[in-house]
Amino acid sequence: MLIKGVVFYLDSDLPFEARSLLEDFRLAVNNAIRAGLQARVTSRNALCRLAYEDFRQEHPKMYAKHLVSSFEVACGILKNHRRRVRKGFPCRTPYVKRLMMKAENQAYKLDRESGVIDLPIRAGCHVELKLVVSQYHRRYLNDMALTLGSLTVLPDRVIVTFRKDAPKPFAPESALSLDTNERSLDGVFVEGDGAKAVKAEFPEIAIIQQRHHDRRRRLQKKKAHDRRTSRNLCRREGAREHHRIDHRLYQVANSILRFAEDRKSAIVLEDLKGFKSKTSKELNRRLSMWPRRKLHQIIEYKAQWRGIPVVKVDPRNSSRTCPICGRIQYSRMGTEFKCECGWHMDRHINASINLLQTAISKGMAGGLWFNPGAFQHDVMMILYEPAMAARSEPNGTSGIAGVT
Ligand SMILES: [Zn+2]
Repeated sequence: MLIKGVVFYLDSDLPFEARSLLEDFRLAVNNAIRAGLQARVTSRNALCRLAYEDFRQEHPKMYAKHLVSSFEVACGILKNHRRRVRKGFPCRTPYVKRLMMKAENQAYKLDRESGVIDLPIRAGCHVELKLVVSQYHRRYLNDMALTLGSLTVLPDRVIVTFRKDAPKPFAPESALSLDTNERSLDGVFVEGDGAKAVKAEFPEIAIIQQRHHDRRRRLQKKKAHDRRTSRNLCRREGAREHHRIDHRLYQVANSILRFAEDRKSAIVLEDLKGFKSKTSKELNRRLSMWPRRKLHQIIEYKAQWRGIPVVKVDPRNSSRTCPICGRIQYSRMGTEFKCECGWHMDRHINASINLLQTAISKGMAGGLWFNPGAFQHDVMMILYEPAMAARSEPNGTSGIAGVT
């Protein structure tokens, strides 16, 4: 079962009754957290037994389904808390500050035509929430293959989850093998006998990361005397950085998936899971690791949703092996991979060829095969480049480049 949360903004302010429901819900969650911590339980049923009666007496009118759902939320928070404690992370007693509530799919009604949510508050009292519906939202509302999941209500917006069974991936007619690098995805696209080099560039992401990293460093220095302000500012910087990077990652992923969908391609990616860096620059490495993993997550998730097959391959030696003769080169190389047998190729593209061959040899890419002889070295297909984005990231040289 695949789940997708879609954010809707409200057409008008949250009605008074709904707002007090959010407050009651928060109270119920915090109550349940306290009870759960005291009794050292984290399961929803145990929480229900513990806290239901007491809370019911104080709030006799609250809709029972909302109350049960508050235990569900509390249960999630308690489980997270327990995990952090076990791992030895510093953490304080959990407490919900933000106003929110969650309703299971039986506890609310959404008219998918008009975009109006009917939310019961208590017996005989319902409120209607009118949602702002755009074309993007229509795609989800009108698709009847999607069923409604839970609803999260926040003071200014709601999140509706849509669910569907994962579609069966199509049988690939071609393959798109991509090697993931700091500034680009490089690879080969194989269709029939032919093969072409492909590239999706995102140089801005490293620039954005560097810029926010520097900014955080500066903030920490400047606010060294005030840890609280420093922490808050850094957190805000971090959130901003994530938003900006995520936005770009989604664009890259979308253009790749569109390409794969059009050509009925299987996507071959390296499996980054077991990735352990042995270099001394590990910290540096880890910094640049997260957008790549995130990019893979986005591609995999969206591919699943759209029924595009994705193959993950162990990347060991993929950048050092010659795809023709199989020799492994242990010496460091520049941007070009050169082999004694005469094969030479861009290092990143060479890696993607090896990923593809691993996928083929394990029978994971359907009946496809790859003929290195038919590889068109001089043709480069651009799947994505920053010029396709809404706004480019300014850097030190753009002022010069802009003068023509
Ligand atoms: Zn060779």
